[in-house]
Amino acid sequence: MTETERMVKQVSPKSEDFSKWYLEIIRKTEMSDYAPMKGMMIIRPYGYAVWENIQRLMDKRLKDSGHVNAYFPLFIPESFLQKEMDHLQGFAPEVAWVTQGGKDELEERMAVRPTSEAIIASMYSKWIKSWRDLPVLINQWANIVRWEKVTRPFLRTTEFLWQEGHTAHETSEEAQDETMKILALYKEFVETELAIPVVTGKKTEWDKFAGAVDTYSLEALMGDGKALQMGTSHNLGQHFSRVFNIRYEDRNQNLQFVWQTSWGVSTRLIGAAVMAHGDDSGLRLPPAVAPIQVVIVPISMGNWKQDILPIARNIEADLVRAGLRVKLDAREEFTPGWKFSDWEMRGVPLRLEIGPRDVKDSKVIAVRRDIKKKDPLPMAHLMESVPALLADIQKSLFSQAEAFLRENTRFVEDYEEFKATIEAKRGFLKAFWCGARACEEKIKGETMASIRVIPLERSEGKTSGRCLSCGQEAETIAYFARSY
Ligand SMILES: [Zn+2]
Repeated sequence: MTETERMVKQVSPKSEDFSKWYLEIIRKTEMSDYAPMKGMMIIRPYGYAVWENIQRLMDKRLKDSGHVNAYFPLFIPESFLQKEMDHLQGFAPEVAWVTQGGKDELEERMAVRPTSEAIIASMYSKWIKSWRDLPVLINQWANIVRWEKVTRPFLRTTEFLWQEGHTAHETSEEAQDETMKILALYKEFVETELAIPVVTGKKTEWDKFAGAVDTYSLEALMGDGKALQMGTSHNLGQHFSRVFNIRYEDRNQNLQFVWQTSWGVSTRLIGAAVMAHGDDSGLRLPPAVAPIQVVIVPISMGNWKQDILPIARNIEADLVRAGLRVKLDAREEFTPGWKFSDWEMRGVPLRLEIGPRDVKDSKVIAVRRDIKKKDPLPMAHLMESVPALLADIQKSLFSQAEAFLRENTRFVEDYEEFKATIEAKRGFLKAFWCGARACEEKIKGETMASIRVIPLERSEGKTSGRCLSCGQEAETIAYFARSY
């Protein structure tokens, strides 16, 4: 066995140690590597290609809904952050500071942006003068730095990539509409393109964004039953417009403060796709974001370079012309069997094998990564059958994840049952909660499960019950889970 062959076989089973599996799989598939600096990651080409697909598909949705892109500075003067105290206090523990430029000590130190509300609000106060300037719907694709103590590639790293939307509106209602519109856009995006079903809802007062009136988030279940926050949408109210003096003349010539929102999704979504769909053989990437959607493996037997390779090349060219992301693996130094498991590990949704018999029969063998099912496909109809199979794989990954979410979401009314379930099965536990922070903290202390969201829609049939922790009458239902 060569070193590379050993590598392919050496992935820890997901079922045995999920965390180890995750770290190994993203390194062995060359999605990411650790940087020489602690807590930072390198996104390698295979992982970055997933991000480019996410960016492209998200950017289109944002532009189609009226948003435009801009770019703001990486550094934020300390005085800007200090204007909104909740904002400063929320981010202070994880801000990286620049104190020196060249040889000179700076008069005022600058934060490496942990988020851009402050710098963008300062510009909006110059740009927005009248109701005719509203709404402002700006998005930025950027990098962010938050000095994290405990890190995990894609999920939590000191530097990460994201998009951050920053909007300004005439009325409170418009800002709330925008907040909810983006939450719905994110949900549709994650479910359609990443094939991951999500639960949406509001964050508790103490878990909301520093400087927001309300924070809404989308949460998904990963393969180990732990929850992951997939994105957030904040209604900022007038918190930033009041301190940055973003005022406009309204339709009656009165000066008013604007109403704002901000929202973002990050490279964390790559980690989510790995953890929601992967299995013991490696990644299972949804075709919509997979760097390679179809890999063609000619079976290297006999006179394969003359008999099989040219046919494989034609199929590759046709599929590329049809707009698919295709790779022909004609490497001679590896056996077909090795290539199969290598591409399986990398999560390529569809593999087309072509052997001497297949050439004779004018067919290829198609192997789906999602269910590992093999089907012969006539060569004459590949332009129709391959896109159809990819669409089916995308749907099937979503259905599998949806079934997993359904099976692992439970409504629990008894605390003992709650404790036993979170210990044995994890998942989302829906329970009545009185609204007190102390009750959540007690539950978190005893079970490591915290409130992920307060759902916007209810399906339990009961309008009230007893708080899981204190037993008081409660009307709110919350989703609890252990989380990343
Ligand atoms: Zn309570």
